[in-house]
Amino acid sequence: MAIATVNPATGETEKTFEPHSAAEVERRLALAAAAFQTLKGTTFAQRGEWMRAAADLLDADLEPLAEILTREMGKPIGAARAEVKKCAKGMQFYAEHAEGFLADEPLADPSAVGASRAVARYQPLGVVLAVMPWNYPLWQVVRFAAPALMAGNTGVLKHASNVPQSALYLDSLYTRGGFPEGSFITLLIGSAEVAAVIEDPRVRAVTLTGSEPAGRSVASTAAAQVKKSVLELGGSDPFIVMPSADLGAAISTAVDARTVNNGQSCISAKRFLVHDAVYDEFLAGFTAAMSALRMGDPLDEQTQVGPIATAGGRAELAELVEDARAKGADILVGGTVPDGPGWFYPPTVVTGVTGEMRLHLEETFGPVATVYRVRDADEAIALANVTDFGLSSSVWTTDAAERDRFEREIEAGAVFVNGMTISYPELPFGGIKNSGFGRELAAAGIREFCNLKTVWEK
Ligand code: NAP
Repeated sequence: MAIATVNPATGETEKTFEPHSAAEVERRLALAAAAFQTLKGTTFAQRGEWMRAAADLLDADLEPLAEILTREMGKPIGAARAEVKKCAKGMQFYAEHAEGFLADEPLADPSAVGASRAVARYQPLGVVLAVMPWNYPLWQVVRFAAPALMAGNTGVLKHASNVPQSALYLDSLYTRGGFPEGSFITLLIGSAEVAAVIEDPRVRAVTLTGSEPAGRSVASTAAAQVKKSVLELGGSDPFIVMPSADLGAAISTAVDARTVNNGQSCISAKRFLVHDAVYDEFLAGFTAAMSALRMGDPLDEQTQVGPIATAGGRAELAELVEDARAKGADILVGGTVPDGPGWFYPPTVVTGVTGEMRLHLEETFGPVATVYRVRDADEAIALANVTDFGLSSSVWTTDAAERDRFEREIEAGAVFVNGMTISYPELPFGGIKNSGFGRELAAAGIREFCNLKTVWEK
C-alpha cells in the first residue's frame, strides 16, 4: 500500500510520501533508544510540563490539523475538531495524573515477608512500537503516546499508510513541546516492515490498534521475541433496548452510536437488539432518523456522514450487505453504492438477519446497522455474546435487575447503561475475546508498559 493521502471524498491523491529507507529507520530507532536513556532520568514534573506544552500546540493547530484529518480519512470537520480537542485534554489528563498512577506501592506490613521495607515500583520499559489505524488518526496515537511518555518510555509510531500527514504531525509534536529528540518518532514504513522493528532488540514492547489479522501477526512476532503486546482490535458491539427504556433517547443515541466517524469506530454500536414490546416503534424511529442523515462533503459543516475512508473499505461493506440481501435480509434504508466520486456509502438499516449471513458475525466498518427482535433479556444476552468480539456494549433499561444482569453477563470490555460507548481518559478501555487484550487509558493504560519492580529491603 502506497504511503499517501488519498481524499476519500474525491478519490484524488493529494500527497504521496517516500517510505523511510532502512538506513533512516535505523537512525530513528537509534534516536528513540538514546532518548529513553535521557527520558527515564527525568521527573514527572518535567515530563508533565513538556506534555502540557505539546497539548497547547495541538489546541493552537486546531483548524489546520482538523482539515488534515478530514482530507486524509473523511470524518466530518466538526468531528475532526472534536478529536483534536480530545487529544489535548487526554494529554493534560496524563500530565496531571501520571505520577499518582505510578506511585510506589509499599507493603503495609513488610515483616510478613521478612523485610523492613517492601515496595512495588513502576518503571518504564524502553522503546515501545505503536502500530496504529487511520480511523482516529490522532486520538488512537495520543492515547498511547501520552501515558507512554509520561511513564518515561519512548515511542515509535508506524501509522496506517493512508494517514501520513497525521503521522508526520505527531512525529514533531512532542519534541516541539520540549521532549528530547527521539522521544516519539514516526517511521514511514509499510506493514511488511513491522516484524523487523518488533524483532529489533532496542524495541521492548508493541501495541497495535487495528484489525484482527494485523493483531494476530504482530502479537505472534512479539511472542516469538518474548515481548509484551497490547491489542485493541475490532468489535461488533450490541446495543440492547428493553421496554422500560426512554425510547426517544435510545433512538437518537442509536443513530449517533452507529454513524459516529462515518460508522468507522471500533466501539460503534453495530447490532441493535430490541425487545419485542418496543421493536416496531424503535425500528420506525431509527429508520426514519438514519434516512434523514445528511451525507456529503465532510468539509461542509452541515454534513453528518462523510465517505468511507478507503475504496477497499467501501467494497467490503457493500459485500457484507449484498451477501445479506442475497440470503433474504430486508434492507430498509440505504444499501446501495451511490454514483459519483469518492467512497460514500449511505446509512443503512438491515433486518431479517440470520445465522448464515456474514453480517451476523462480522464487523461492519461503516454506517450499516442490523436490527434484531428479541423476546427477553435471555435472548438479548445470548445474541450480544454470539460474536467472537467483546469490545463494548450499550444497554437501555431502567429496570435495576435487568441492568445488573447485563453488566454481569455481557462478554465485553465495557457496558454502558443508557448511553453510548465513548472512550474517556479516566476509564480503562479495551476488549476481550477477539477484540484483543490489555487496556489503554486510565491507570491501567499507563501501567501496561511499565516494569512492576518488587523492591525488598532487609
Ligand atoms: P488494519 O488494516 O489492521 O491496520 C491497522 C494498522 O496495522 C495499520 O498501521 C496497518 O498498516 C498495520 N498492519 C496491517 N496489517 C499488518 C500486519 N500484518 N502486520 C503489521 N502491521 C499491519 O486496520 P484498519 O483497517 O486500519 O482499522 C480498522 C480496524 O481497526 C477495525 O477492525 C477496527 O475495529 C479496529 N480498531 C480497533 C480499535 C480498538 O481500540 N479496539 C480502535 C480503532 C480501530 P498499513 O496501513 O500500512 O496496512
